[in-house]
Amino acid sequence: MIMMINVEKNSPTPHWQQELRAAFSNIDDLLAYLHLDSADLNLHYLASKDFPLLATKSYVDRIKKSDWADPLLRQILPLADELKKHPEFLNDPVGDSQASIMPGLLHKYHGRVLLVTTGACAIHCRYCFRRAFPYAANSAHRSQITAITNYLRDNPEITEVILSGGDPLTLSDTKFKHLVDALSDIQQVDRIRIHSRIPVVLPSRITDGFLNTLVSSVKKIIMVIHANHPNELNDEVQKGLLKLKQIGVTLLNQTVLLKGVNDDPGTLTRLSHRLFDCHTLPYYLHLLDKVDGAQHFDLNDNTATAIYQQLQTKLPGYLVPKLVREESGKAYKTPIQIQF
Ligand SMILES: *Cc1c(COP(=O)(O)O)cnc(C)c1O
Ligand code: SF4
Repeated sequence: MIMMINVEKNSPTPHWQQELRAAFSNIDDLLAYLHLDSADLNLHYLASKDFPLLATKSYVDRIKKSDWADPLLRQILPLADELKKHPEFLNDPVGDSQASIMPGLLHKYHGRVLLVTTGACAIHCRYCFRRAFPYAANSAHRSQITAITNYLRDNPEITEVILSGGDPLTLSDTKFKHLVDALSDIQQVDRIRIHSRIPVVLPSRITDGFLNTLVSSVKKIIMVIHANHPNELNDEVQKGLLKLKQIGVTLLNQTVLLKGVNDDPGTLTRLSHRLFDCHTLPYYLHLLDKVDGAQHFDLNDNTATAIYQQLQTKLPGYLVPKLVREESGKAYKTPIQIQF
């Protein structure tokens, strides 16, 4: 990659970190800010006990005021529905524990590994399949880098490393650079892929310092962002993504198909168009992973495939994401067959 950007030395706590610290984490504050009045906060509190509310102000400002049904609010607000138990909804729905090689390293698919770099995110998505992931014992701390690079050397067919989490962009510039530099030194690695929701929910994170880290890597960089609804992609998000595109990052998006958020072909069509405006191609449309607490977002396969079929009639092929489901023990994310 080329082009370096000047960075100010000795700058104070970066603006994005201040924004992260100031994120909404209190249900009363969030509801008051959105002019919503709940009669029974107890159920919200109870639902958020193990997986608290968290959302940046930048994201919350894209939510319509006084609207319980807002698709962005639905993604972050703890609801009593989360307390319902269902035998099919589990803590580790995608078999991550079977794929764990060592703390922080998942090797599930041929040629690529995934690093759980941190448990922290800038937002807590209520449908998250890692909402119960044991992060504390399973993140790739700095001290494990050597063990991880040794594993790569023992498995020379691995040519792509995915930085995931949590959200790898919550790491400080120093930590993030350390990781990218360490991976850039490994010859067999062709591509570094970053899975992050932060370009969408905390666009101020795309700083010159961060861009420089990517620019200085000799590897190809891919960023897979995560947006579920066109309202998430405002002008600031678009500007950040343009900066990434300008330094040569390949931009893709993954979406989770969610009841009450994006379960209609019109919304998904607008999402694909808006992503393209934001220099990003749709990659995956995931069926919900059946994680405990997310049952109220679930759509049955017939509904999901009917939506997908409609979507295909509305978009050019390059704007149609692949409809997939993640199944434990499979060699790739399973494409969903449309029945006629
Ligand atoms: C989803 C995932 C990947 C990436 O899969 P792609 O099909 O290449 O996007 C890699 N490793 C793990 C453990 C995953 O869950
Ligand atoms: S940002 Fe990603 S990892 Fe974090 S809560 Fe949302 S879906 Fe889960």
